[in-house]
Amino acid sequence: MKSPRYCLIPTSSSWTSPSDALQIRETLRATFKKGTTRPIEWRQRQLKQLVKMCQEKYEDFYEALQIDLGKPRVEVLLGEVGAVIARATKSEQQVAEWAKPEHPEVHGEHAKWNPTVHKAPRGTVLIISPWNYPIILTLQPLIGAIAAGCCAVVKPSEHVPTFAQKLALFLPDYLDRSAYQVVNGEAGVAQKLLGLQWDHIFYTGGGRVARIIARAAAEHLTPMTLELGGKSPVVIDDKYDVELAAKRILWGKCNNAGQICVAPDYILCPRNIQAKLVSAFSEHYRKFFPEGALKSDDFGKIVNDAHVERLTSLIKDTKGTIVLGGNHDGRKLEPTIVQDVEEGDPLLEDEIFGPILPIVPVDSLDDAIRFIQARPHPLVLYAFTDNDDFKGRLINETQSGGIAFNDTFQQLAVNELPFGGVGESGYGYQIMKYTFDTFTQLRSAVDVPKGSETDMERRYPPHNKEAIKA
Ligand code: NAD
Repeated sequence: MKSPRYCLIPTSSSWTSPSDALQIRETLRATFKKGTTRPIEWRQRQLKQLVKMCQEKYEDFYEALQIDLGKPRVEVLLGEVGAVIARATKSEQQVAEWAKPEHPEVHGEHAKWNPTVHKAPRGTVLIISPWNYPIILTLQPLIGAIAAGCCAVVKPSEHVPTFAQKLALFLPDYLDRSAYQVVNGEAGVAQKLLGLQWDHIFYTGGGRVARIIARAAAEHLTPMTLELGGKSPVVIDDKYDVELAAKRILWGKCNNAGQICVAPDYILCPRNIQAKLVSAFSEHYRKFFPEGALKSDDFGKIVNDAHVERLTSLIKDTKGTIVLGGNHDGRKLEPTIVQDVEEGDPLLEDEIFGPILPIVPVDSLDDAIRFIQARPHPLVLYAFTDNDDFKGRLINETQSGGIAFNDTFQQLAVNELPFGGVGESGYGYQIMKYTFDTFTQLRSAVDVPKGSETDMERRYPPHNKEAIKA
């Protein structure tokens, strides 16, 4: 018998009872207990099905993200669907290797005990995702959960309702619905899910909600991954090619209209090259958007009016000088460069999460490092330099989730690197094997042979004091 399809639409009143959440969790748990998700071939089949869904429903997902975020096709292809297809495919190919029990090198008597580390699936897990990259940030953790042999509920963000509804419609046609469910709804729905015990919670979003989720998880001692955001700085060496730095930074800031956890948030720029940097930004802006960003299909929009309001207030309140952009048309807000921004400016308080880029002039690398050290650890630190000492100082004297030299975002292009934050930018890791590891318990095992008894004789009472001394 097929399990029921749960498709709870954010705007509908169909989610009314906490017992729905319980029922879904119980269905998934029963599947996990039956061992359905354990065979590697089963996991591989599910991963292939996830790839098939992304391929067959690509146009539907693209249309959904057009409606919800005005996301350009290239960004949907490269940053969302394409990346999910690539990572699910590679995970499907590599999961058999990842899931193999490990036999650590052990010497002496214990070597005979067959010491083994089994890769056990954690169980039934909850994945809560945000709106800005809704496909990859919902499905990437799911890839890892499937690969690890877990059952999962995914709860997409209510701020991308078209996508969330489509996912809830499509996923059950591709994946085993007794093991994977989409639950849609607002914060209240997430709260109901959080009232239940899960074997892992994987949350991507902002720090305020992360604290609510971590408190709920603590009730059940549930392990967590928190993929959060923060203000990712860019440091520039005045010897670096300013034209190229401006091009790569502007591209990074314009993706998804700056609504990315790894967006360059502000620039720490040597005072002597600020004017050159600003003019390079203007030049590249004109090349990227000859008709202006507000008219371009290659530039996305802000997710909702509340965020437009927040961002336009920042532009209004800054004490810096706006040297590019500053205008908006409905939910489209121009890439906006602000120079001579100083400590205490509203642009330097919270994560900007939009297409505004403040430039903070500094007099030395020491100044830049001091500025970074005085703030919460960012998700990424970007630096443009060819100088190994410059790189070394940033690696050794700052902390951040990741560090990328001479480009933006490309740390995410390498599937074999872990992605995660530190401190205020979160904890835990994801991408490919790292997501598999997140949803995997390392279960240690020994098998003590009968023949070891002679070596153990001295542990049994009555204790022979002489033997203990020896
Ligand atoms: P959001 O508002 O969509 O919230 C994320 C999820 O939390 C949603 O599913 C939402 O329903 C749920 N939620 C909201 N309030 C809740 C509550 N009170 N209780 C339980 N669940 C609740 O997304 P957001 O927080 O605006 O996302 C933007 C933030 O996410 C930024 O700070 C960004 O840097 C960060 N982010 C981090 C990563 C990463 O991988 N590190 C990726 C993308 C975004």
